[in-house]
Amino acid sequence: MSPATHTHPPELTRHQTLVLSALAREESPASAYALLAQLQADGLRAPQQVYRALDKLIEYGLVHRVETMNSFVACAHPHDHQHGLVVFAICDQCGRVDEFSDTAIERRLKGWSKDNGFRMSAATVELHGQCARCDAAVAGAAAAGAAPAVKAAPAEPAAKPARRARQAPAAAGQP
Ligand SMILES: [Zn+2]
Ligand SMILES: [Zn+2]
Repeated sequence: MSPATHTHPPELTRHQTLVLSALAREESPASAYALLAQLQADGLRAPQQVYRALDKLIEYGLVHRVETMNSFVACAHPHDHQHGLVVFAICDQCGRVDEFSDTAIERRLKGWSKDNGFRMSAATVELHGQCARCDAAVAGAAAAGAAPAVKAAPAEPAAKPARRARQAPAAAGQP
């Protein structure tokens, strides 16, 4: 049994609240420096202030670090999952990140850890690729762009080259 019913949200300091709400506004992960730039007007001056707030928010499970992007995201469901395993699907086109958990993968990782005497403290899986929205946009653009270009005009022997030949002497005639 887990110590389940201590669901009181942690008391956040002013800086932690600012950093968390800045992250919650973002659809993509934000770096500490991007957060600092956003929060300068609110009185945050040094990167360490942002990092200190982030450390605590991560500890509380309200924020995750996306290692491969060296950035941070607000947890998508802070009251919902135990953070045994966190999976991020990261779109390399638009930077959108979807967070989810997967108990089957988690069980396998825990099983391996147990069998190998490894004490797992955290597990994060980061998937890189293209989100459904960007995929649809690319497919749409390809379909639209491909139609006219499907077949190049068949070679028309004499007519077209003649037009170009008429312009050529003028250009060549320049000293
Ligand atoms: Zn989370
Ligand atoms: Zn995308």
